[in-house]
Amino acid sequence: MSVSVGGLACGSDGFVTVGPAGAGPYIATVTRYVVIGAGIVGLAVARRLLLDPSTGAEVTVVEKEARPGAHQTGHNSGVLHAGVYYAPGSLKAQLCRAGVNMMIDFCDEHSIDYLITGKLIVATDESQLTALRTLEERARANGITARSITPHEAREIEPHVACVGALHVPSTGIVDYGQVAVAMAEDVRKLGGEVRLGAAVTGIAADTVQTTAGDVRYDVLINCAGLYADRIAVLAGVHPPAQIIPFRGEYAQLKAGRTDLVKGLIYPVPDPRFPFLGVHLTRMIDGTVHAGPNAVLALAREGYSWGKVNVREFAQSVRYPGLRRLARAYYREGTAEVLRSLSRKRFAASVAKLMPEISAADLEPAGAGVRAQAIRPDGRLVDDFLIVRADRQIHVLNAPSPAATSSLAIAQHIVEKMVSV
Ligand SMILES: Cc1cc2nc3c(=O)[nH]c(=O)nc-3n(C[C@H](O)[C@H](O)[C@H](O)COP(=O)(O)OP(=O)(O)OC[C@H]3O[C@@H](n4cnc5c(N)ncnc54)[C@H](O)[C@@H]3O)c2cc1C
Repeated sequence: MSVSVGGLACGSDGFVTVGPAGAGPYIATVTRYVVIGAGIVGLAVARRLLLDPSTGAEVTVVEKEARPGAHQTGHNSGVLHAGVYYAPGSLKAQLCRAGVNMMIDFCDEHSIDYLITGKLIVATDESQLTALRTLEERARANGITARSITPHEAREIEPHVACVGALHVPSTGIVDYGQVAVAMAEDVRKLGGEVRLGAAVTGIAADTVQTTAGDVRYDVLINCAGLYADRIAVLAGVHPPAQIIPFRGEYAQLKAGRTDLVKGLIYPVPDPRFPFLGVHLTRMIDGTVHAGPNAVLALAREGYSWGKVNVREFAQSVRYPGLRRLARAYYREGTAEVLRSLSRKRFAASVAKLMPEISAADLEPAGAGVRAQAIRPDGRLVDDFLIVRADRQIHVLNAPSPAATSSLAIAQHIVEKMVSV
């Protein structure tokens, strides 16, 4: 069975194929793989290639920054998602469920701290109770244990939460994905691969990737460049079916002395149209408690604050018909997010819906992350992971949350399909 994604055929294996029919890149004799991007997805793919003896792999990861995990991987909520939200049968649903267990095993093997805190998804008014019941059904369809509980039961778990009903997901946890990426990079090196840092890709020819730290020859190219994945695809001669739009998510944290208010993870009921909207409370693995993130259009692909502007990249975003259509359709939601970004009071008011004891005085700024969200030309968000393949190339073109949780399963998925096709 195949469906259409942005005009391209998308097989039931979750890959989109471009280029001449039958031009599969995946030959068991291929030896030289170049992975672009030392984020958690690129590193997981590189590691998997090296672990799988059937690929006979020689692997080089090229990364423009001086350390692994410098962008999305190192700037997120650190949640080990259980997999409640995602459409049953989607890549997100399958790979999150498999990936979370693989990630826990990886952390055990590499002595990386993680904690299974459990999570509450809370309805703060009666109108959200139907959506909460729908989520419970979705969790069941995805094989995740989740239980509807009363406000009284919710307060036994989180004594300061305010809600009219909640869904308890006991298997959700927390970890530091930056630390995971560092351990993955070490594995890649130990397994005989190279992680070349400070190597920004500037050009891609038929068998060579040009970088600021020298050329690297390849038989198969795997693009895991996160916020720049669509640009890298264009460099490689592939027209991506969707453009990456950068959405910044800003965090605040509870001041020292107030962190005891939150035991684990408290999330609002999500708006299915914008799965990434909704400020939540997250206990981090270092003991701090983050509130956020919001979601505003970033003025640069790596625009971590309002002051970081890249005129060319911003123009690329606002000229894109997909973003213009999205902005027209959801003008109100977008404006509310910008206002919440500019006003500490508004931000605190969103947090107080979940926990009325928290006020603006309890919060201080705690940095930001930028999400790489692929948007179709018609203005729809690409909801699922999107992996495009062309002749001797694979491009990971949409890997938003829960891709950190799912990274090891995404890697397995890519390598197994590559080797088996
Ligand atoms: C605010 C926020 C909160 C999130 N919360 C969670 C969460 O709680 N749980 C979860 O599972 N997921 C979460 N996510 C999603 C998760 O962080 C990402 O899905 C994941 O990190 C994607 O990894 P990646 O390797 O694809 O991208 P990245 O980590 O962005 O890595 C891409 C790499 O490519 C490199 N690169 C780009 N261009 C080039 C070039 N030209 N040459 C060489 N290198 C290049 C970049 O420098 C970067 O290191 C969150 C994301 C954000 C932004």
